[in-house]
Amino acid sequence: MDSEFKTWDDIFKCQQCGDCCNGFGGTYVTREDIINISTYIKVDPEKFIARYCDKSGSRYVLTLAKNGYCIFFDKIRQCTIHPVKPYMCKAWPFIQTVIKYPENWNTMANSCPGMKKDIPFKDLQKIVAVEKEKLDTSVIK
Ligand code: SF4
Ligand code: SF4
Repeated sequence: MDSEFKTWDDIFKCQQCGDCCNGFGGTYVTREDIINISTYIKVDPEKFIARYCDKSGSRYVLTLAKNGYCIFFDKIRQCTIHPVKPYMCKAWPFIQTVIKYPENWNTMANSCPGMKKDIPFKDLQKIVAVEKEKLDTSVIK
């Protein structure tokens, strides 16, 4: 019998709750993210880093506002840099760890109401791999 879970929208529908933009250990930005976002908001990349990023080990994360949300989150507009949001925001929840450890999906779903739980691992791994590949090939390296 055919599985009922074939494509990403069978297993995920963002509820626009904003929870993933709140705290959450930091949103890492790649070099490409820094260039894309600073271009989008028309700020020099060095100034962007100084104003909107914090150091986390050897990498940068987006600064949090006083309310604990990402500095680019707005309660009404949600992500104010949506077209150029960081790779890790674009990727969620179709991330490498789920391909390797599909059991992580249900744990992630505890903090993301958009994720359906208890998807058969085989279907989950296939869908996540397809979406990750699509994003990775669309990102200009
Ligand atoms: S936590 Fe999940 S449902 Fe809520 S905004 Fe983030 S991705 Fe969407
Ligand atoms: S960049 Fe946008 S999607 Fe990513 S954490 Fe910030 S507000 Fe949320």
